[in-house]
This record gives sequence, C-alpha cells and structure tokens, in this order.
Amino acid sequence: MPPRPEGQRRLRLEITVFFAYCLIFQQWFLKQSMLRRVGFVVGLYLAITIPLYVAFHSNACAVMANGRIIAVAADENIARKVMGDLVKFKTSEAGRPVDVLEKIKYKGIRINQQDVLDQEALREELASALTFKAKGAAILVNGEQKVFLKDIQDAEALLAWLKTVYPVEPGDQLGFKETVEVVETPVDLENTLDLATAQRQVLLGTNKIVEYKVKDGDNLWDIARAVKIDLDQIIFTNPGMDPENLEIDQVLYLSKEAPLITVTATRETTVDEKIPCPVDVRYDDKLLLGEKEVITEGVPGEKTVTYRISRENGFETGREILSQIVKREPTTEVVVKGTITMVASRGGSVRLAWPCDGDIVSPFGMRWGRMHEGIDLDASYGSDVVAVAGGTVVSAGWDGGYGKQVQISHGGGLVTRYAHLSSIEVSVGESVDRGDVIGLVGSTGNSTGPHLHFETIVGGVPRDPTNYLP
Ligand SMILES: [Zn+2]
Repeated sequence: MPPRPEGQRRLRLEITVFFAYCLIFQQWFLKQSMLRRVGFVVGLYLAITIPLYVAFHSNACAVMANGRIIAVAADENIARKVMGDLVKFKTSEAGRPVDVLEKIKYKGIRINQQDVLDQEALREELASALTFKAKGAAILVNGEQKVFLKDIQDAEALLAWLKTVYPVEPGDQLGFKETVEVVETPVDLENTLDLATAQRQVLLGTNKIVEYKVKDGDNLWDIARAVKIDLDQIIFTNPGMDPENLEIDQVLYLSKEAPLITVTATRETTVDEKIPCPVDVRYDDKLLLGEKEVITEGVPGEKTVTYRISRENGFETGREILSQIVKREPTTEVVVKGTITMVASRGGSVRLAWPCDGDIVSPFGMRWGRMHEGIDLDASYGSDVVAVAGGTVVSAGWDGGYGKQVQISHGGGLVTRYAHLSSIEVSVGESVDRGDVIGLVGSTGNSTGPHLHFETIVGGVPRDPTNYLP
C-alpha cells in the first residue's frame, strides 16, 4: 500500500483539531447559567447581522444611463424631480418636446454621504452626461445625415437659399449634384444648428468655421498664404466677394473643405457666332516666327449656335452644342508666316518689342535670396501691356502670386509671361500679333504696387529678358 499523500494527512489532522475545540466549547457553554447562554447567542447574532445590514442597506440613489452610473442623488424622489425639471427646461429652451435618448434607471446604493450631489450639481452632471433629443430635420447628402436643423421648414429654407448663393443666369435650371434629401427625424439638440450656422456649414463643408477680419493693407494673396488655404478656395467659399477690393473689417470665411452640396445650373442659350476664316499659310524665312503678313483678307462666316451650358457652384463645367445653323460660310485668308525662332536670333538683329513703357526697376536674377525669374517694369496702373511678338495665348487668368497673368507661346520653345495685370484682354487659344494689347498694368497677386513682371521662358527655363529686348 502506497503512503498517503502529505495533504490528506494534514486535512485529517485539522478536522480532528476542529472537533476537539467544539467539544471544549460545548463543555464551557453547558457550564454557564441560562442568562449567560441567551446573552451569548444574541451577541453572536448581532455581531453577524449588523455589518451585513450596514453593507447592504442603501443610503443614496444612483442615476443610471444605459446601465452606467452617471450621478448620485440623496434619494430617488430628488433624482426624479431634478431629471423632470431638466427635461422641462430643455423643452422650453428648444420650443418643442424633448426626450432623453439614454435609458434611465434609478437604483438605491450605499455610498459615503460626501459623494452625494446636491441638486444643483446633480442637474449639471445630468445635463452634461445625457443626450437630449427632439423632433427635428436632417439634410441627407448622398444618403448620409450631414446637417441637423430644428424642423423641415429650416432645412428647406437652407436648400432654397443655397440655390441663390451663386450667380444665376436667366433660364438656369438649378439643382444639386449630390442626392439631397430632407427627412424628419429625432435630432440631438447639441448638434442642431440654427439656420445661419447651418448655411455656413454647408457652404464651408465644416462646422469648424474660421472667420478672418480683413485688416488695413491686407490682400487676398497674403491671407491665403498665411492661412495655407488655396486662393481659389477662399474665393469659392465667399461668394460675392471681390478679390481685388477687400474692405477693412470685411469678414472672410476660411475652410479647407469643399462645400457639402454642389449647386448645379444648366441652361440653353442661342448665340450668333463668327466662323473663323480657314487660313492658307505660306512660310517666309525672313520673318520672325509668330509674325505674319496677310496677303488676302478673309471674311469670317456667321452661325447661330444653341449650347447647353452646365455650371457647378458658379463655375462653368460643360458646354455642349445642341444645334448650329451656318448663315454664311467664311472665305479663306492667305497669310505668310515667319520661321526664324527667337532662340536662333539671340544676338542677331531680330528683337522682341517692349511689353510696356517703363524702366526696369528690378532686374532678372537673385533677389532677397530668391530667384527673380523676370524683370519688373515700372508702369502706371491701367497702361497697356502688349505682346512682344506674335504667338498664341497659352494661359490667361489668375495664377497664385502672379495674380492675373498671360502667357504667350511664340513657337521655337519661347514663352513670354506678363504678370500682376489689372485686367486681361485676351483668352486662351487666341492668336496675337506683335504689339497687340493683351492686358493692362496692375498690382494683382504678390505685388506691392503697380508694375509689370515680364518673363521670357526658353525651353521651359526662365532667361534674362534683356537678352531679347532692344
Ligand atoms: Zn517681378
């Protein structure tokens, strides 16, 4: 027979000792008087029940939201009263019935009295921990609830307002690019916006609205650079603003987000247009590339065209020809064009024209640690800027720090740029001749005063324009 394990032997010993104590206790108990025996039993009972009573009897009321304690009141009546008052207050504040979203329960608990909240603290605690919901309306964009308002009327007013934000042309059919719906739904009071705030949220794409108040000496380009937001985006989110005439104290809304809803406008329009003359080109190696001589003047034709023009948030996005009627065919123009390229002519006798009258006030080269990629010509505001040679307009519009600018390609890899213009007189694709007015001197973009910034770009690399000027 194997020896018994140590544990079993120990247990047997402990049981034996326990029974021995019981026997000693019984001997002692039976020797006592009846009074002492009763006293002992009562004493033992109290010693067990009092701590149990204290441990399990509640002295406060916990307010539970979705099974979690959010506050402790002195008792359930007080908790219910404070909750009722709070809902009543929220209801009068919202002007319509308000409910608490969470499931509320009251439960007796035992707690240190100093942890019980007084009525005011209880109300604050409940107000911040709970979500109050009321009947309201949501605007759904592509099926997603994006904006919450107090009612359908506000939601519909917002959508109607949105259609008036961007310029509307006669005959425009207005709509939204996204699927936009309005639904009646319980809304969280905290996320419910008043109409004006909701309008800005839709326009700026966010409810984190940053306002900027224009200061004396500000220009839009500097503001855009300082807040690191695209200049076009600022123009986009502030419809009706004139980028060149900011007023002091004017408020700009800044956002990096796109508008939540895109307003589409479609219209059909019928216009009379000229049909450009077909050009019969002959080449002459004694003329500068881009220059031309007309041998036979052509007569443009005439046509009536019906377009369907689409715009999104005011910007044209499509122009579809629905029909066109030719009223008169054009006649052919015969021209002679030069073939000498500017690069080949460097140092030779062929030179560019001056783009405007004025002295060079800032030369080509390093300036303030940065490369100045052109020359600045001192010229008065509004004076003519002309094409320095014949060519085709390849860019005409706002371009960052250049402000309003025009680029002309003269062939042979030569492009000239005219920047900070106050107005542009040509459009992309247009042919220009040497000496044609292409714009007026101004101070748009990163400019401290009226001047013309002029660049000659050869094969994509800016070169010193004075090499090509007379
Ligand atoms: Zn410059």
